[in-house]
Order: sequence, then C-alpha cells, then structure tokens
Amino acid sequence: MEIITRLRGIKDILPDEIEKWKKIEQTFIEISELFGFKEIRIPIIENKFIFVKGIGTNTDIVMKEMYEFKDKKGREIALRPEGTASVVRAFIENKMYMKQKITKLYYYGPMFRYDRPQKGRYRQFYQFGVEIFGGKSPYFDAELINLLNIAFDKLGIREIIFLLNSLGCENCKDNYIKKIKGHLESNINKFCNDCKVRIEKNPLRIFDCKNISCKKTVEKLPSIIDFLCNECKEHFEKFIKLIEKFGIEYKIDPKLVRGIDYYTRTVFEVNFKNDEIAIAGGGRYDNLVRDMSGPDIPAVGFAVGIDRIVPLICDDKMIKNDVVFLVLLGENARKKSFEIMKNLIENKIKFETDYEDRSLSEYLRVVNKTGIRWCMILGDNEIEKGVVILKDMQTGKQELIENNEIVNKIKERIKC
Ligand code: AMP
Repeated sequence: MEIITRLRGIKDILPDEIEKWKKIEQTFIEISELFGFKEIRIPIIENKFIFVKGIGTNTDIVMKEMYEFKDKKGREIALRPEGTASVVRAFIENKMYMKQKITKLYYYGPMFRYDRPQKGRYRQFYQFGVEIFGGKSPYFDAELINLLNIAFDKLGIREIIFLLNSLGCENCKDNYIKKIKGHLESNINKFCNDCKVRIEKNPLRIFDCKNISCKKTVEKLPSIIDFLCNECKEHFEKFIKLIEKFGIEYKIDPKLVRGIDYYTRTVFEVNFKNDEIAIAGGGRYDNLVRDMSGPDIPAVGFAVGIDRIVPLICDDKMIKNDVVFLVLLGENARKKSFEIMKNLIENKIKFETDYEDRSLSEYLRVVNKTGIRWCMILGDNEIEKGVVILKDMQTGKQELIENNEIVNKIKERIKC
C-alpha cells in the first residue's frame, strides 16, 4: 500500500530541530513579557469575514491564499492566515479596551496560506506576533523595533536590516494614489496581468510585485513619503529619530507597502542582509479597530516568521547544556538509576538514558551524538564507593561526586 504523506507545503517539526524552535519561541516570549505584553490565545478557525474585512478584499491573502470551507451548518470558515485580524476581533468582542488605556498582547502559533510552496514559504507556518492597542505615539512604533532588535540579537541573528516606511493616513494614501494613477494608467501595458487588476482596485499593491517590468516601471514613481501630511510626516520623523538613537541599522524604503490593507503610517520589515528574505513585518493600523466595528483606537504590531529564523540558529549553540545522560554500566547500575532519577526529577534536572547493555566507550559515542554536554557514569565500582562520575563531554574533564552531592554539583555545573 502506498504511504499517505503530509500535504504539500506543510512540514513536520522533528525532535532534532525542536530545541531551536523552543529557543526562538522562548526568547520572543521572554522579551515581550519584559516589555509588558500578555499572552492571548486566538482560535485557529474564525468566521472568514474577520479576515476579508481586516486584511482587505483585494489583497493576495484574501483573494488567493485563504484556506476556506463551510462547516456542517454552512457557515463560512477560514483557517487564520495571520494573527492581527483575530486579535482585533478578540479585543473588540471581549471589550478589552474597557480595562486600561494601553493593551499589549502577544500570540504564537500556526498560520495558513495557500501560497506557492518554495524555500522559506510554507502553507502552514508559525508566527510570533505582538499588538499594542491604545497608543498613537511614535514611541510605541519604536518600542516594537527595539523589541525585535533585542530578540534577534539575543538569538545571535545580526545580519539583518530594518526597512522602514510610512504610508500616511487615509488622506495621504488617497493623495498619493491620485498622483500616481495617471502614470500607472499611461504605462498600463508595462504591467503584468495581476498588476493591471491592482492598478484598478488597489494601486499600492503594485510595489509588491516581483515582475521585472513592473518593478522598473514603479521605480520612476515619486516617493509616498513626499506626500505625507504634516502630522504623518512628524510621526515618521520622530520614529526615525528614535531608531537612530537606539543605533539600529535601518534603511528607509519608500516602496515598502506590505501585503495587507490595514496599515496606516509606519510600516516596517526585517530582512536578511544577503538575500532580502523577510523574517518579520509589521506596522501601524490606526483605523482597523474602528473599521471592524470597535471604538476608534489606534494600534501597532508585528509578526515574526519563525520558520525562516530556525535555519539561522547555530547548531553549536544547541549543545544541550542542561541535560544529563545517565551512562548505566551493568544491571546493578540500571537498578540503582531509578533512585537517582527520582532525585533528579525532584530537583527539576533533565536527564536521558536508554538502559542498553554496552561498554563505556560505546556509551560515550551514543552520548556524543545526542549533543548532551553532561554524562553521569555509574558502574559497579561507583555503586560500591557511593559515588558517580560526572563527565563534561565538551572538555573531557571528569570528577567523582559523592551520592549525596549529586544534585548540588550538577546544578553548579549546569549553571556555568
Ligand atoms: P505577514 O503576515 O505577511 O506580514 O508576514 C510576516 C512574516 O511571516 C514574514 O516576514 C515571514 O517571515 C512570515 N511568513 C509569511 N508568509 C509565510 C509563509 N508562507 N511561509 C513562511 N513564513 C511566512
């Protein structure tokens, strides 16, 4: 019988890789919590119109990429393609704005887009995202850039650049579109078929197109930043000054529009320096809460694509420093191991073993493959003397430890 495989564009995350995932997730959670964000768990399935209304009818996500189905009662459901629209729905529905002026939320989980699968582009992918509701100051926009920069630095990801732009408010956007529409229409034949539709329905989208002829034609357009009203201009300039103050490497990219309709004013992306792949994106969406029938509350947020960060986490940082492998030489050691394990569990020390009957050198080869740094060796000699041997697989050093000192000594070593 043929084996049934996973769906196209969807992958398993295997135990070999999981430590990298956890490290990234924990880093973002820890830093966001230090910045005062609280977790929200939003559903994976929602009423499809949350996304149609939130993301925009004429966006690629809504037009081409949503996983949609009808449930048994004929309700129109979608698997969430992103988190913001759901968080906004939950913010409004649960009247979270009644509690405090500023609400800071983070979420983490799988998103689904029926995208063309390729390297770094999946149909189920994972995003960590944050949203700040209630603050219109550019300090909030800058806080998010600062948070991202701290998290990437902590993960050792430094070959990145922040791309920044402002789309202005509705008025600025309208003025700009009016200004460029003539140029776009007189050059309509230079655009791909998708862009021809975009020019009609959602002209800013043309800046996202990868087609060479479209890219060349939009190069000649004026910059949206030159069309900002005084307030939007002031907001953007203040934001940029703050980023400079943090010493973060950035580039203003007037062609950065992002693939989602709800953005106003600040938009940003974090790209790898060498291959221009985006690992995070976000911006301000001051009208979305109101447009989704909530109160008039400004907001700003970002989402990081975890799948694209995982390959960047170095393996050498993944040495398991906080796990002890129990090398059990002989039947007596295996029997004694349960006592030791109980002690380790009570003291929250992680361990692994496989109870195999093999020689010390064979055991050490096995431990080496696991990436575990510490191994505790126990044989008949050690049992007789009431000791164990603790070996550091990284340096090769080993020491004898009295049974009643096991926990203290391991805790000391794991810390270093
Ligand atoms: P967006 O929600 O489109 O603003 O995307 C935010 C981030 O999510 C991007 O910068 C990517 O890192 C990641 N991302 C978006 N789409 C995909 C995908 N199909 N596969 C993997 N990561 C993705």
